[in-house]
Amino acid sequence: MKALEEKINNEGRVLSGDILKVDNFLNHQIDPIFMNEIGKEFAKLFKNENITKILTVESSGIAPAVLTGLQMNVPVVFARKHKSLTLNDNIYSSDVYSYTKQTNNKISINKRYIDENDNVLIIDDFLANGQAVLGLLDIANQAGANAKNVGIVIEKSFQKGHELITQKGIKLESLARIASLNDGKVTFE
Ligand code: 5GP
Repeated sequence: MKALEEKINNEGRVLSGDILKVDNFLNHQIDPIFMNEIGKEFAKLFKNENITKILTVESSGIAPAVLTGLQMNVPVVFARKHKSLTLNDNIYSSDVYSYTKQTNNKISINKRYIDENDNVLIIDDFLANGQAVLGLLDIANQAGANAKNVGIVIEKSFQKGHELITQKGIKLESLARIASLNDGKVTFE
């Protein structure tokens, strides 16, 4: 998505550890008009997949997920993150290692909001090593839902998430694909 690449070039900042900061429009301040364009793009890419529900993880996935849900006219469910979890029969949960925070989190979704009738589209802000998406896929599988589609706003293609997801036969669409962040410079694929 050309407009996204331009926005990353103009407003993104590269930090050490291969982290791209886009707090200006995605991760802290949100540009709703631009996020709506992102929603339109995902809706176009997945329009033939009979999606019934969008899944994401709090908090940075929520903005692109909601605007995609608005365009596709389907509900959006975000998994909650917990440091530890007391035993609870009403939730599906999965362990996710956070790339940016270098901590383990449990993510969970209440059983009320996902079931075997759902055909889910997973949306997230970034794809790095794929742990957040794999956690959501795990939850969808536990619920017996169909999960064959993933939409990512910014993929860091030099990390291993892309391969981990596509090798499962999943359709992965990333709106910007970054080949490297070397020397503080963003190079797209
Ligand atoms: P993964 O689970 O694919 O290893 O990492 C994806 C998650 O880590 C995303 O949900 C995002 O919140 C965070 N993340 C990974 N890399 C970056 C990055 O370069 N910049 C920002 N802002 N977040 C990132």
